[in-house]
Formats: sequence, C-alpha cells, structure tokens
Amino acid sequence: MRQGLLWLSERQGMFNFVRRNGLARRFASRFVAGESIDEGVTAALELSRRGTTASLDLLGESVTAEGEAVKARDQYLQMLDRMAASSVEVNVSVKLTQMGLDIGEDLCYANMVHILDRAKALRGFVRLDMEGSAYTQRTLDFFRDRLFDSYGAHCGVVIQSMLRRSEKDVEDLNAMGARVRLCKGAYLEPPAVAFPDKGDVDRSYLRLMERLLTAGNYPGLATHDETIIARALELVRRESIGPDRFEFQMLYGVRRDLQDRLRHGGHRVRVYIPFGTQWYPYLMRRLAERPANIAFLLGNVVRESVPRR
Ligand SMILES: Cc1cc2nc3c(=O)[nH]c(=O)nc-3n(C[C@H](O)[C@H](O)[C@H](O)COP(=O)(O)OP(=O)(O)OC[C@H]3O[C@@H](n4cnc5c(N)ncnc54)[C@H](O)[C@@H]3O)c2cc1C
Repeated sequence: MRQGLLWLSERQGMFNFVRRNGLARRFASRFVAGESIDEGVTAALELSRRGTTASLDLLGESVTAEGEAVKARDQYLQMLDRMAASSVEVNVSVKLTQMGLDIGEDLCYANMVHILDRAKALRGFVRLDMEGSAYTQRTLDFFRDRLFDSYGAHCGVVIQSMLRRSEKDVEDLNAMGARVRLCKGAYLEPPAVAFPDKGDVDRSYLRLMERLLTAGNYPGLATHDETIIARALELVRRESIGPDRFEFQMLYGVRRDLQDRLRHGGHRVRVYIPFGTQWYPYLMRRLAERPANIAFLLGNVVRESVPRR
C-alpha cells in the first residue's frame, strides 16, 4: 500500500485528475493550509497566537523550467516579508529542486542567495528540505560548499533516519556546527540505501537523535512518534539539556493534541505549514504514512455520494 501510494505521488497525470476533484481538494485542506501566501501566513499567525512557531513551505518540487524556479523564489521572498510584517517568526522550508537544482547549480545558488540574504536581513531561518536519496549528496554538498560559510546561522538541512548513510552525515554536520532537522524520511527508497524495516528506521532515529541532542546545534526533532518523543524527553532530562537547545517539529494537521501537550510541558514546538497549488505529491506522501487517512477519505466519498433525505 505504502509503495503504491508513493509511486502514485510521482504521476503527473494523477495530479491533473485529482486537482480537478473538489473532494480531494477538501481532503487536502486537512494537511495543506490553502493555495495562497495569505492563507499560509494566516495559518502561521494562528499558531503563533497559540504559542507555536511555524515553518512555511510553498509546495513544489522537481522544477524543470528556469522561469518556474524564479517564480517560486519570488514567492519565497514575499513569504519572508509577509511573515515579518505579520510579526510571525520568519522561518521557511524550501526544496532545492524547486529552486532549479535540476536545471543548473548556478541558477539554484543564485535563487538561494536571494532568499538567504532576505532571511538574514529579517533574522529568519531557511531549512533545506531533504528530497529522495538521489539528492542527498548533492543537497549536503551544496549546503556545505556553497551556503554554510555565509549563511550557516540562517540555514540548515534535514537528515532522514531511514538512510543507511545518515550516521556519518550527522557526525559531519555536528562537527561543522550545522543546524539539522531529523526526520524518518518520506520517499520510496531501495533497500541498498535505506532500511526496509520500520524497526530499523526507528532505532536509527533514536541513535541519530541522541547524537544531535548531545553534540549538535539546536536540532529539530521532526516526528509524531510518541515512543521516540518519550525517549527524547527522558534523554534531555537525564543530560540536563534545556528546552531552549532543541525543538520538536510536526506537520500541519497531524497530532495537534501532541503539539499542545508538548507546548504545555514547556517545550518548543514548530509546525511545518505547507501551502500552494502543488499539493498532490505532498498529500500522497501523507496518505502513505498513515493508510487510516485513506479510510477517512473513502468515508467522505461514500457519505457524499449517498443522497441526503
Ligand atoms: C516538520 C517535519 C518536516 C519534515 N521534513 C521532511 C523532509 O525534509 N524530508 C522527508 O523525507 N521527510 C520529511 N518529513 C516527513 C517525515 O520523514 C515522515 O514521513 C513523517 O513525519 C512521518 O513519520 P513520523 O516520524 O511521524 O513516524 P511514523 O512512524 O510514520 O508515525 C508515527 C505516528 O505519527 C502519526 N502520524 C504520522 N504521520 C501521520 C499522518 N500523515 N497523518 C496522521 N497521523 C500521522 C501516527 O499516529 C503514527 O502512528 C517531515 C516531517 C515533519 C514532521
């Protein structure tokens, strides 16, 4: 099931079909804050009123035309300005393929410099989301060789515990003092590069989390896994790691109860808020993570197709 959904997430024809479907759009609204910058910033503002910070993500990836990458960059610049104007902490997440990495590294770099200069001026932060494993090395090299020296305090990367290579990557990033978000990984990967067994992915998460909490620079623990979160809380208590030295991160629309519980317990929580018209691959990855969401979707289809009396 998971593999099938991840495969479908890469089919453009399916996206065109789904985007026209009102029901799918309504379902997507559970995980996506809307299609416009206004809607994204409004969602961030609502969270900030509840004491939760946000990272705003303009949905889009695998851009193949320069004009599209430049348009996405300009939207990011607007997002940064709008967040600052709304007194919301300035924090965005961006995919390098959305900035043109597949077209050319120089184009991608030029776009990222615009975004990072603006973020720096606004004392904000830009997270480079991690994409499929074909991009891991390129993303980490790009970050280390082209961005870190000038923008290290305003820019960070993501490590996926499902990848076999991640232990070494975390050590290298800790040695640099880079800011890392740790997640399990949302992409379909071959067993040669990723652990096929979920138990191994979770154990890897725990090992990497410990290294980041004890030797890293303000890690972001991105997970909704209560067992892992409980282990994180145990570890920080044992090692006297204050709540200002790390943050929990969760996805918009997922486990709001847990977000509130952690916040009430004095922990920092950041919510990743995706918005934009390109919501289909993102939605499919969320369905793949929790097939119960499909039952929810189908339940709605059935309810809406039965005539009401
Ligand atoms: C802030 C943030 C940023 C991320 N950035 C990236 C990235 O850059 N690259 C990348 O590859 N992946 C990214 N991810 C996705 C991540 O890799 C996982 O796919 C996703 O978080 C689910 O894993 P989990 O740790 O919650 O654990 P899981 O074991 O998948 O889930 C644990 C529990 O969380 C709940 N849950 C998880 N997902 C859902 C859902 N969709 N709907 C409802 N309940 C759910 C369920 O109760 C489940 O039992 C990010 C995730 C977060 C939270």
